[in-house]
Order: sequence, then structure tokens, then C-alpha cells
Amino acid sequence: MNREEIANKLKDKGATKACHRCNKNHFSVLDGYSNLILQDDLSKGLVIGGPSVPVALLACNNCGAITSHALGALGLLKDKEDKSNG
Ligand SMILES: [Zn+2]
Repeated sequence: MNREEIANKLKDKGATKACHRCNKNHFSVLDGYSNLILQDDLSKGLVIGGPSVPVALLACNNCGAITSHALGALGLLKDKEDKSNG
């Protein structure tokens, strides 16, 4: 998975609209990916290593707003497909 692959997938999906914050249309795909940590009970404190969603990150070149896209939805989770969702 590389930045070009992510950019092409987003284009395929029609995710090409202007920035939701500043309305410019210049983005950079950030290197690598991130994980959104899912947590339903904050009373337990932050749990490290709990359920998470791997996401690609896009940063607006103008205002720096960051948008995340789940890699699974883009078909980019090849090796580690999480099928436990249910
Ligand atoms: Zn922006």
C-alpha cells in the first residue's frame, strides 16, 4: 500500500470533493496509516490495544484539516482482514 494507491482508490470511490473546512481542493495522502481506537466505555480509562480501525489519512494542503478513510472500505486491507465485525 502506498500513497498513490490510496489516492487512486479515493478517486475510484468519488471521494474527490473539496476540503470540508476551507473548500480548497489540494490534499496530500499521509505516509503510512493510523488506527482509530474504538472505545465504548470511557469510565474504564483509555484501553491500549483494544478494537481499532486502520485508516488512511488525508491532509488539506491549505488549512491542514485531516480526513480519515477506513482502509477496509477502500479494499486496502489485504493481509489482515478483520472479519470479526458483527
Ligand atoms: Zn482545508
